[in-house]
Amino acid sequence: MQNIIHPDFKVGILGGGQLGKMLCLAAQNWHLQTWILDTSSDFPAGQVCSHFIEGNFKDFDDVYNFGKQVDVLTIEIEHVNTEALLKLESEGVKVHPSPSALNIIKDKGLQKQFYADKGLPTSSFELYESGEAIKQALNNGTLEYPFVQKSRTAGYDGKGVAVILSENDIEKILMTPSVIEPLVDIEKEIAVIVARNENGEMQTFPAVEMEFNPVANLVEFLVCPADIPYEVAQRAEILAKETIADFDICGLLAVELFWTKNGQILINEVAPRTHNSGHHTIDSCYTSQFQQQLRAILNLPLGSTKMKTPSVMVNLLGAEGYTGQAIYEGLDKCIATEGVKIHFYGKEITKPFRKMGHATILDEEIEKAKEKGRFVLKNLVIKS
Ligand code: ADP
Repeated sequence: MQNIIHPDFKVGILGGGQLGKMLCLAAQNWHLQTWILDTSSDFPAGQVCSHFIEGNFKDFDDVYNFGKQVDVLTIEIEHVNTEALLKLESEGVKVHPSPSALNIIKDKGLQKQFYADKGLPTSSFELYESGEAIKQALNNGTLEYPFVQKSRTAGYDGKGVAVILSENDIEKILMTPSVIEPLVDIEKEIAVIVARNENGEMQTFPAVEMEFNPVANLVEFLVCPADIPYEVAQRAEILAKETIADFDICGLLAVELFWTKNGQILINEVAPRTHNSGHHTIDSCYTSQFQQQLRAILNLPLGSTKMKTPSVMVNLLGAEGYTGQAIYEGLDKCIATEGVKIHFYGKEITKPFRKMGHATILDEEIEKAKEKGRFVLKNLVIKS
């Protein structure tokens, strides 16, 4: 085993957002040096890392020079310069997740093709080189409504996704190279985070359910454990392990899944890093996803993923109509409520729907946790 408990041992992280911040906080427990590369030290991780290097994680030279200075290199965002990572890897730098897996995951088209090639269950799909080609296919009848369009690159939080139900939605078609999928009849959306180390040891966190607000159609609660049959949870966990092994990733893989009305489990997409659906683990599990990522990339024994208590996680978003210096209202009432754990990311500027923090609510009874979650969402208002 490497001597990681050493004042000179450096964990390099590409990206200085909230995921980077929480990874740094976990690393501090073991007094590891955390080095962050991003364009501004005002970003969340800049305030808690041991060393901040100013640079662009999309730039070859910035990533390469950064990687040369650290003992292990990881990410908190997948849109990084993988050419530099491949060169670093070929020169013996430990890079987790593997740059070749990252290259596949960054492109939703290659990702879908990967699942098809490996025989991993996912919805059927077709690739189109442009929005024009999609419109043409609709005109000549080779593509039919309804369908879901996903931009191959640069989509996140639903921004590169268009649900096209009929000709009325034609204006919504994104003018980008795309994946087209049939509209899946979804019973529930679940996510499983799996960890894998260099020894091949694997460990899954309990499946989490994404509950949507039926009016806003936005994820409102992330509920752990998911309210799904035991057998479905088992299948989802096995599938997550197969997927991380097929990608040959060391570190974490967040696997977003559809449990369909006809009982199938389909992979929607993956992220090779810590994930929003794992934030609750900081407060609710024996090992947090952040500590698990460190264990996995350092090839240490993985931690127990056992739940200490059921929980609900809500994202704390900037309120609509406010942009500017963030002000947090209603915090007192929320933290006075039993089981409410608030995490702020330290972003100076709020914008409508910007992720400014999250709250995990611990309660043996999930319905009570959701009630408290609604209380937090109503009372904790982030304005400017
Ligand atoms: P993002 O990467 O932006 O999160 P996703 O691929 O996860 O995009 O899609 C966002 C949401 O769109 C999903 O959570 C799901 O609710 C819906 N969605 C995506 N693909 C399909 C599909 N094929 N059928 C039905 N709904 C879908």
